[in-house]
Amino acid sequence: MAIKIEKIKEEKKKNKIIFLLKGSDEVFANTIRRLVAEEVPTLAAEDLEIKENSSALYDEMLGLRIGLCPIKTDLKSYNLKENCKCEGEGCAQCELKIGIKSSKKGYVYAEQAESSDPKCTFVFDKMPLTKLLSKQKVDIQIIATLGKGKDHAKWVPGAAFFKKEPVISIGNVSDPQTVVTSCPQNVFEIKGNKLAVIKENIYDCHLCQKCVDLDKNITLEDSDNFVYSLETWGQLNNKEILTQTAKILVEKIEEMEQLI
Ligand SMILES: [Zn+2]
Repeated sequence: MAIKIEKIKEEKKKNKIIFLLKGSDEVFANTIRRLVAEEVPTLAAEDLEIKENSSALYDEMLGLRIGLCPIKTDLKSYNLKENCKCEGEGCAQCELKIGIKSSKKGYVYAEQAESSDPKCTFVFDKMPLTKLLSKQKVDIQIIATLGKGKDHAKWVPGAAFFKKEPVISIGNVSDPQTVVTSCPQNVFEIKGNKLAVIKENIYDCHLCQKCVDLDKNITLEDSDNFVYSLETWGQLNNKEILTQTAKILVEKIEEMEQLI
């Protein structure tokens, strides 16, 4: 099977990419989805030393919050702890240190954190970690490590999902305006008194069949292609996630080959 990928659109601000996956099947598309969610490693806070926390959030809540704050991940510089030369002891190749210290009234933002590696900081500067009243204080040392989504959701790099590619054909439609206003995804328009598909919106179609219910002269089928969406939480970019996914898939197949 010759697989092809065609970019449909990229929304850089939302860290989102949508592409068409051709020459594939559900099993392969789902394997990619599961590898993204479970196997692509990212950095996330793993150990916390809370020297001081008099904020309203008690230690466990604050720890949970920091754990879920995405950290920019440099996969070239860090190893999974179990694969590291230090054999799990902890060293600069498998641990990132981040400090958060504040006694200023107001929100404590992710940008106030100081990372031992300037390439690997929290992704979103204005993510609030906690809020301090006057005379309250936080002083925390974080150790972040690489990990996988199958062990904890904090290491998931993003969301991947797919649907079948919609194929719409339009015959002689009696009431085009009703179809245009009824479509929840804004897929249709009226062109020269006739119903037409808005090209750039076609991939938003949810295959809900509402248009078909309104007029039997519209057909809505799905092709063998998949509309694939990938949205990163910011630790890695979409290209890095897909490249890693392909690498992990090959490694798993080679491992299986050796076992046979
Ligand atoms: Zn190490």
